[in-house]
Amino acid sequence: MCGIIGYAGRDEAAPVLLDGLERLEYRGYDSAGLALFDRGGALALVRASGKLAALRGRLLEEMEQGLDAHGTVGLGHTRWATHGAPTEPNAHPHRSMRGTYTVVHNGIIENYAVLRRELEGKGVVFASETDTEVIAQLLEQTDTGSPLETLRKALPRLEGSYALGVLYHTDPETVYCARRQSPLLAAKIETDEGTAGTLLASDAAALLPYSREVYRLEDGELGALRADGMRFYGMDGTEHFLQPMVFSRHVTAADKGGYVHFMRKEIDEQPEALRRTLAPLLQKDGLFLGQGEAALRDPDGIRRVLFLGCGSAYHAGLVGAALMEKLTGIPSAAELASEFRGRKPRLDRHCLAVVISQSGETADTLAALRIAKEQGARVLGVVNVEGSSIAQESGCVIPTQAGLEVAVATTKAYSTQLSVLYALATRLAELRGDAGPGFLREFTQALRRLPGQAAAALHTSEGTVRDWAAECQQAQHTYFLGRQLDYCAAAEAALKLKEISYIHAEAYPAGELKHGTISLIEPGTPVLAVCCQPEVAAKTRSNMEEAHARGAALYCITAEGIPHAALAAERRLVLPGTHALLTASLAALPAQLFAYHCAALKKCDIDQPRSLAKSVTVE
Ligand code: GLU
Repeated sequence: MCGIIGYAGRDEAAPVLLDGLERLEYRGYDSAGLALFDRGGALALVRASGKLAALRGRLLEEMEQGLDAHGTVGLGHTRWATHGAPTEPNAHPHRSMRGTYTVVHNGIIENYAVLRRELEGKGVVFASETDTEVIAQLLEQTDTGSPLETLRKALPRLEGSYALGVLYHTDPETVYCARRQSPLLAAKIETDEGTAGTLLASDAAALLPYSREVYRLEDGELGALRADGMRFYGMDGTEHFLQPMVFSRHVTAADKGGYVHFMRKEIDEQPEALRRTLAPLLQKDGLFLGQGEAALRDPDGIRRVLFLGCGSAYHAGLVGAALMEKLTGIPSAAELASEFRGRKPRLDRHCLAVVISQSGETADTLAALRIAKEQGARVLGVVNVEGSSIAQESGCVIPTQAGLEVAVATTKAYSTQLSVLYALATRLAELRGDAGPGFLREFTQALRRLPGQAAAALHTSEGTVRDWAAECQQAQHTYFLGRQLDYCAAAEAALKLKEISYIHAEAYPAGELKHGTISLIEPGTPVLAVCCQPEVAAKTRSNMEEAHARGAALYCITAEGIPHAALAAERRLVLPGTHALLTASLAALPAQLFAYHCAALKKCDIDQPRSLAKSVTVE
């Protein structure tokens, strides 16, 4: 959620830290800070509320006023506040009262209030409202003179989750670190003359420009990073020799490529992302899921399929579940990972749990995955980030190949998740003999055409939905309707609008409207219906009529070949005809554009909407 970056090397630390923060800023961005040891070994600390630009400005100002920020070892952080408002005193890094320890943190210390009271009882004076400061103060109070030993003594007192970067006042050459339940990675900068520096980060995106080999700390591991190398330890003090994950590509800095917003660029990247994701799955002689095949071994033994995710990934799961049930007849459901983890579901090896996450670090989804595994379910990950926690722990993964997604509101990661789920449901139906060769041929062909149709859908819808956005941008409340797969698409469409335009949007299964929500429809209330499923189109149209009779301004996303007894008053967008089961995927595209244009007209911060973050690593 927040971004952590640490550096111990030969070069100036500040530019390396700022560059790392830039790559991480999308994870959380309400305030930022950095701490580094200056040339005399004293600690320079600079923090600012707001975006990274504010920190850059503050650093320059302070340097002009004499701050020595020319050191080669330091830490940086972008924050997504959980405890305490996004003010400068609450920004990380946090220093202990006497300056012994300086800490950056990702996660939540659940027993921070108890610890704070205890420390205050000992005379400790706190400078912030954060849970994080408790860690710095606790370390200072526990200090043995050896930071690693102190960490081993103090960390068991913390309840909750943490990825930590730590500086110790008398050791200006080392960045210490520790992890429990929040991601933390490290890398070495290798040159012909050997290791020239080491880096710590909460996300591989900040490390890959320096190295394709990334070391992942596991829960309960500690580390010490220095310019000439790094060492890792268990909580019992034994040295751990980590094996690096080798990433397949170097990641370059995110680039808007001439677009005003990343989101708009990523919307346009969808045809290519779909092609990349589907290409390895659509072999010449049919579908093949690579690693995913392992989860489908003994296909007749699968008696239940669960799709676990949060936010848009949950909506992808809704589509997956509807499709799975249609194609295989296996009872299937999508579950919100944040709720699932609080329940005690009885699962076994007859259950296939499909775990969906863009970042692969979503804390709730990771917890749900662990429950599914403990209960003996087969687990299959659908993840966009190679080497992420969910990718690692799932064991078998079908990757979405969306590439780096920077805008907080997902577009291409969501579309590629859908495409993987289509392939999964179809392949399982094939293996179990639930689908005949005719259907399989036809549907696989339709999947092959999907990237091209996505491009066509984007092209046809842009002008129409821009007009719709101009009409709706002032609305306070909007409703999105659909039945079956169309409802799944409506749910994602409503979320997209809420996230970036701050217009209240509620998705309803069209048939449910009359059971309560219809009382909210007044003359002029925008109601957007997704009506692409032939077997429920007539019923959805009746529900649209009901809304229209109460004065709703009606908008309809439909598809070629769907019978339209269109209302005169209705604005309509017709998507290119595809297999009816695939229209949930195409319908997402105009919905994204609609949300985008509403937000653009309202001059919202589209790529970094208020209060949201890209990779939700807290619970
Ligand atoms: N809980 C910490 C805070 O509120 C860290 C939040 C984060 O992960 O960014 O400062």
